[in-house]
Amino acid sequence: MGLSVALELTKRNPLAHIAVLEKEPEPGLHASGRNSGVLHCGIYYASDTLKAKLCAKGAALMRAFAEEHCIPCERNGKIIIPTSAQDLPTVERLLSNAADHGIRAEKLDVQAVKALEPYANPYQVGIHCPDTAVIDGKGVIQQLRRMLEAQGVRFFWNCKIVEVVPAAKCVKSATDSFSYGYLLNCAGAHADRLAKMFGLAQNHALVPFKGIYYKLSPRSAGLVKNSIYPVPDIALPFLGVHLTRVISGDVYVGPTAIPALGRENYGLLQGIEWAESLTIAQRLAQLYWDNSQNFRLLAHSEMKKYLKTYFLDAARKLVPALKAEDLLPTQKSGIRPQLVNIAEQRLEMDYLLEHTENSLHVLNAISPAFTCGFAFAELLVDRMP
Ligand SMILES: Cc1cc2nc3c(=O)[nH]c(=O)nc-3n(C[C@H](O)[C@H](O)[C@H](O)COP(=O)(O)OP(=O)(O)OC[C@H]3O[C@@H](n4cnc5c(N)ncnc54)[C@H](O)[C@@H]3O)c2cc1C
Repeated sequence: MGLSVALELTKRNPLAHIAVLEKEPEPGLHASGRNSGVLHCGIYYASDTLKAKLCAKGAALMRAFAEEHCIPCERNGKIIIPTSAQDLPTVERLLSNAADHGIRAEKLDVQAVKALEPYANPYQVGIHCPDTAVIDGKGVIQQLRRMLEAQGVRFFWNCKIVEVVPAAKCVKSATDSFSYGYLLNCAGAHADRLAKMFGLAQNHALVPFKGIYYKLSPRSAGLVKNSIYPVPDIALPFLGVHLTRVISGDVYVGPTAIPALGRENYGLLQGIEWAESLTIAQRLAQLYWDNSQNFRLLAHSEMKKYLKTYFLDAARKLVPALKAEDLLPTQKSGIRPQLVNIAEQRLEMDYLLEHTENSLHVLNAISPAFTCGFAFAELLVDRMP
């Protein structure tokens, strides 16, 4: 997000002094370098959301960027399949979203689904989204970095912002101090922390969710031609375990949305800050207690996915021929920087923007923020004074 915004700024004002402050030694070590690499078509999102406004446009801009810079990207489409009668109303809802937003999506009968994905197991119907694509996301990040460096954007690596002085228009790392005319906070899973330093995001707190993946063995990868997704629970901001043939040709299974205990809790205990973990655990307990958006069911079903057998169950609902030995463990995992609305005790479904006179903050940059990146950057720069 930060790199996309920097690119948009250079396009609009080539003489602007732009600096990217990044706490890591290189870009893409967090969500943007750890996702499924899918350019979503936007079928999941209701009309009144920023996600709906930005997704299809962002995907088109990113496909064009990939083509221009020879970054691997394949518009191979995906199938969304119901697995029980309960899913059928949501199928209609998704099709109506698609119609509302001019997204290409076709309702198929079982035979037509099987012509595209012979091993899928749809209940009565399926939806084909031909514009869904897979992309080399790290390739996008590297290309953005090269272009920005060539245009004179200054990068400060290993530069974690730990303090802000909004009145002086200044942010500080452990060793340096930076003054700014305008600041855009695109800090992903840490964005709410930074925003709070500006007195913003007072109604929100982070509850991170971990996405882990398995990979299909070479023997079974042929069971999936492109991508097979379940019909999601549209009350929740997660899509459910799906099968995606990524740009390398491997088929990944996942990701989960397992409640996690830290903003960078990629492994079992890795990335946990114990003091904050306690607060996160309390927030999760509160959500569990209130049970809004059916949180208990989500927590039960997702926690079980730490066990391979339950993970396999989720994958087998889509492709019954899969066997335990077909799922190979991977190190791939990511954290969804999910915000909870504290007053209403519910997970925020859409992106949130908050601002001060001299700063704009991107909060809840959950999926599909990677797809939306370039369109999102346009919107953010439009909102700058
Ligand atoms: C498992 C998973 C699968 C996903 N799949 C998809 C998908 O298929 N398609 C899709 O469109 N989206 C997907 N998403 C969502 C998408 O990856 C994210 O929404 C998007 O990458 C967010 O980008 P970002 O720039 O906001 O965050 P990030 O990529 O996390 O970048 C934030 C950057 O800010 C830096 N930073 C943080 N705090 C500070 C600080 N204090 N000082 C300096 N630097 C700081 C971090 O080091 C990081 O580099 C997925 C997400 C996950 C977790």
